[in-house]
Amino acid sequence: MEFVDRLLTCADCGGEFIFTAGEQLFFFDKQFKNDPKRCKPCKSKRAGTGLKAGTGPAAAGLSRTETRTECSACGIETTVPFKPTQGRPVLCRQCFQSKRAPSTGALVTAANTADMVAGTEHTAVGAEMLAAAQSPQA
Ligand SMILES: [Zn+2]
Ligand SMILES: [Zn+2]
Repeated sequence: MEFVDRLLTCADCGGEFIFTAGEQLFFFDKQFKNDPKRCKPCKSKRAGTGLKAGTGPAAAGLSRTETRTECSACGIETTVPFKPTQGRPVLCRQCFQSKRAPSTGALVTAANTADMVAGTEHTAVGAEMLAAAQSPQA
């Protein structure tokens, strides 16, 4: 799979920004279906003001990255600090905690789940880090 830098238009300021090959590879790797909609300045602007919104998830006491979903283990509605990947199990905090606790036969599963959650949580941070790492060459 080869990627080339692409020029995209920011949905917020209308300016053009580069969706680098490296970022595309990252998106492909994470199976993100959509191209980024905003340039980096607009993205960080939104991230900074998102918590102050009077309505929406922030008003409900959720952080901007929390997503409502159903626990794959017990079925209760829960929120996770990342966007759940379709088809992947998502655990509520309680199930996640209990899976992490060492118990017979569950060690491998628990480790995988922890990896999965940690890996997904890094998505947003990873994208920013990637962007930061690449901007000097741009
Ligand atoms: Zn912009
Ligand atoms: Zn649960």
